[in-house]
Amino acid sequence: MSQREGSLEAPTRHPIDWQNPDFYNIDATIKEMERVFDICHGCRRCVSLCNAFPVMFDLIDESPTLEVDGVPKEKYWAVVDQCYLCDVCYMTKCPYVPPHPWNVDFPHLMLRAKAIQFKQGSPTAFRDNNLSSTDRNGKLATIPVVVQFVNATAKMPAMRALGEKMMGVDKNAWVPEFTSKKFRPNAAPSKTYEVKEGKRTAGKVAIFSTCYVNYNEPGIGHDLIKILDHNEIPYVIIEKEACCGMPKLELGDLESVAKLKAINIPPLAKLAKEGYAILTPIPSCTLMFKQELPLMFPNDSDVQAVKEAMFDPFEYLVSRQKDGLLKTDFSTSLGKVSYHIPCHSRVQNVGQKTREMLEMVPDTMVTTVERCSGHAGTWGVKKEFHETALKIGKPVFRQMNDAEPDYISSDCQLAAHHIEQGIVQLKKDKPSTAKIAHPITLVRKAYGLPD
Ligand code: SF4
Ligand code: SF4
Repeated sequence: MSQREGSLEAPTRHPIDWQNPDFYNIDATIKEMERVFDICHGCRRCVSLCNAFPVMFDLIDESPTLEVDGVPKEKYWAVVDQCYLCDVCYMTKCPYVPPHPWNVDFPHLMLRAKAIQFKQGSPTAFRDNNLSSTDRNGKLATIPVVVQFVNATAKMPAMRALGEKMMGVDKNAWVPEFTSKKFRPNAAPSKTYEVKEGKRTAGKVAIFSTCYVNYNEPGIGHDLIKILDHNEIPYVIIEKEACCGMPKLELGDLESVAKLKAINIPPLAKLAKEGYAILTPIPSCTLMFKQELPLMFPNDSDVQAVKEAMFDPFEYLVSRQKDGLLKTDFSTSLGKVSYHIPCHSRVQNVGQKTREMLEMVPDTMVTTVERCSGHAGTWGVKKEFHETALKIGKPVFRQMNDAEPDYISSDCQLAAHHIEQGIVQLKKDKPSTAKIAHPITLVRKAYGLPD
C-alpha cells in the first residue's frame, strides 16, 4: 500500500453501493470503520471540523492501547451519531480520498453506518422520521387555522418543554414558522421574454422551490422570481415536487430517498432535456441533485441529466454575468453584509459565487465566513445535539458579529437563523442590530425591486 500523502490526481467519488446487500453487512462496516478510523488517528487534520472527530480521538486516546484496536466496537456508533454528512472533511481536508489507494470516504462510510442503524431501528426513530418528513409536515402545518396553532405552539415555552420531552426537539432550538401562503401556488407566472442562450447558461430557468421556501419562507422564492424577471429570463415553477430527500439521506433512510427521487426526477429530467437550467434556492437540495442522487443512481441517465442542469442560484447568476447577460444596474447599497457560506454550498465546488454577486453591488462591504455553523439540517434541533451545534457554531457567531454588519446572510436560511440565535446568546449584554436576509433577498433589494 502506498504511503504517499495526498494524490496528484483530481478526487473521484465512488458510487454509493446501497442496493448491494453487503452494504448493510454490519461486520464489514465495522471492519471498514476500524480501517478508516486508524487512518484518521494517524492524520487528525479534521479535529476542528465537527464533533465526530473529537469523539473518535477521545475514544482512542482513552483506550488501554491508545490505538483504534483498544476501542470497543460498540463505541464506534458514538462517532456515527455525531456526523451530519456535511461532506466538508471529504471535499476540503482529506488527502486520502480516491484515487488515493487508501480510499477514505468518511462521510459515505458514516452514511453506510447510518443506513444500518436506520434498518435496525433506533429509540429516536419516531422523532427522526417526523423531523425528516419536511414535505408532509409542510402540507399539514400550512393548512389555514392549523398554521396559526402550529406557529403559536412553537412560541409557547410550556409547549416547547412538552415537545422536548415527547419528541426530543430541544426546547431552546430555533424552529421555522410555517405559512398558509405557500410559494408554489402564489408564484407570479413568468412574462414572455425571448430566450437568450449564453455560452455558460441556458436562457430559461425552472425553479425547484424546495420544502423550506414553499412552506416556511416563500419570500425567498418570490425574490428569486423578481431577479429573473428583472433580467428578462423566462422561468417555470416545477409543479409536481416532493422533498429532495436530503433529510432522509441524513437519517440513512435510503429507501425513502429512492421514493422521493421517483417523484422528482421525471419532471426535472424532462425540463433538463428541454434546455432549462434548474435552480434550487436551498444548498442542501441543490447538492442532493448534484451529488448524492447521481452517486446513488450512477446508471440512471435521467438523474445524470438533472445533475448537469442543476445550478445554485448564484452559480447561475454569476455565470450569466460572465455571459454578458446579467443586469448590474444596482440602485441600492447593502452596507455591511456578514456572509456565511454553508457547508453544502462549499462542497459544490463552484467557488464563492454568492460573495462575487454581492460584491457587484456598489458601496457594499462583504465579510465572508467559511466555516460550519453547526445547524446541519435537523441534527442541530435534536435535544441530544443542540448544545453541541451551538458549540460548533461559536467561532462563526463571533466572526459574523465582529464585522458589525447591517445584514447577516447565509445561502442556507436555517443556518442564518441558527447563527442569529448563537449571536443573541453570545451578546446578551449588547444585542446585535443586524437583520437576517437571504442573499437572494439582498440582491432583490440591491436592484431596488419592491418587496
Ligand atoms: S461529513 Fe461533516 S459532520 Fe461528518 S465527519 Fe465529515 S466534517 Fe464531520
Ligand atoms: S477524514 Fe481524512 S483528513 Fe480527516 S482525519 Fe480522516 S484521514 Fe485525516
